[in-house]
Amino acid sequence: MHDGSMRDLSDLHRPDAPASTAATSSALRALPPVHRLVDGDGARALLAEFPRPAVLGAIRAHLAAVRRQLRDGAAAAIPAFDEPAFFAIVRADLDRRRLAGLRRVVNATGIVLHTNLGRAPLAAEAVDAVAEAARGYANLEYDLESGRRGARDGAVEELLRELTGAEAALVVNNNAAAVLLALSGLAAGGEVVVSRGELVEIGGSFRIPDIVRQGGARLVEVGTTNKTRLADYEAAITADTRVLLKVHQSNYRIVGFTGAVPAEALAALVRNHDGAPAVVEDLGSGTLVDLRRFGLPYEPTVGDRLAAGIDLVTFSGDKLLGGPQAGVIVGCRDLVDRLRRHPLLRALRVDKMTLAALAATLRLHLDPERLVRAVPVLRMLAQDEAALRARAVRLRDETAAAAPGLAAHLRLDEGVSYAGGGSLPGTEIATVLIALSPPDGLSVDEIARRLRTSEPAVVGRIEAGCLLLDMRTVADDEVPEIARALAAAVVTAP
Ligand SMILES: *Cc1c(COP(=O)(O)O)cnc(C)c1O
Repeated sequence: MHDGSMRDLSDLHRPDAPASTAATSSALRALPPVHRLVDGDGARALLAEFPRPAVLGAIRAHLAAVRRQLRDGAAAAIPAFDEPAFFAIVRADLDRRRLAGLRRVVNATGIVLHTNLGRAPLAAEAVDAVAEAARGYANLEYDLESGRRGARDGAVEELLRELTGAEAALVVNNNAAAVLLALSGLAAGGEVVVSRGELVEIGGSFRIPDIVRQGGARLVEVGTTNKTRLADYEAAITADTRVLLKVHQSNYRIVGFTGAVPAEALAALVRNHDGAPAVVEDLGSGTLVDLRRFGLPYEPTVGDRLAAGIDLVTFSGDKLLGGPQAGVIVGCRDLVDRLRRHPLLRALRVDKMTLAALAATLRLHLDPERLVRAVPVLRMLAQDEAALRARAVRLRDETAAAAPGLAAHLRLDEGVSYAGGGSLPGTEIATVLIALSPPDGLSVDEIARRLRTSEPAVVGRIEAGCLLLDMRTVADDEVPEIARALAAAVVTAP
């Protein structure tokens, strides 16, 4: 440690310590030693709450800071050591560190697939499968029939084939990895043709031109930002072309005078070419069900894309599929086999918990009747207004009961939710909100901060000076938790 927090008082007598006035020296000498602080009354409550090494570390760190202040400060203004103030700062430090790990968040943003909040909450069946896989051993790469080594994602591949009609499937760490593997395996040393309207950045530095380069291929751009024609692709195909890549415009829309070539037209274009390039489509969200069932706009399903003749389709496990973080590659057997043999696969493969969660989520997709109730992402997207309104009324009433002074500041309102996570870009989904206008003396930012740092954390959004809590992404059993957090946020002192 470089901040001196591990030193004890004897360090003060080192010859290289800066020269101090007599007052500073005596104030430094008067500081209690670490052992007296940690074993004294002031630390007792902290030790009941936090592990001793953590308390000790926080005391040392703050004591070092006090010493630094004494050495740097003006001799005339040296205060006496204030033990309660000292421990208040130590507690604040420990509390802050407690917030630093992965904590449960109540998502009241209305963004169903909020990437910063971990995207899809898993179905109960998937959670159970993860726990079971995590607890003990599993036949991860072991064929129980023969007692020999088996394929890591064998069971998941079966399910994916059944659900999408694909010949073969492969699972990797996320969709970014799926695209990288597809390009590395099929296009390294050659060319990848992409429309200028689809040179997407997804965020978190996933940019198509970079992924093509990282895959060892050369990017050939065709068309313009707003219009790309089949003839543009046709003219770009050379003996070096390995892949025609289509990318879903996940987080933007090009409107107006536009035109794009569907991947099936590309598939038809290359079908009768010798040594034809592969047509790969990065579908982004990739749903297995027709979302029109839930009153949402049509998104091509993975099965639809394969039926249209696309060679390989890649998509995420934790977007509209509602499963764990994963990337799925489905399509022609010979192409998938090539990717399976690629050395990069070892670095991109998933663990047993991911496979367990993905298999359980896929199994739920086999039963369309249960699917919407069982998979939280689909359940949240499909909720009707009556359910949202009932939840909002409950939240308003429970909050008003816990903090009667807040009743006049709470209002039911209508607004919009989003699928988020690069799914259904631009689609506004009508929702019901609770809007909180801040009571006198409290800013909306401060209320939002207190909710974020409560246990569990509650995250909403701020609009026009009000805190908005969207009922679409909130579960019924989270309503009492939000009510409690709201009541505490407006009564506790800053
Ligand atoms: C979301 C998305 C990705 C990245 O997927 P991850 O699973 O987050 O790695 C890649 N391409 C498109 C088109 C996407 O929408």
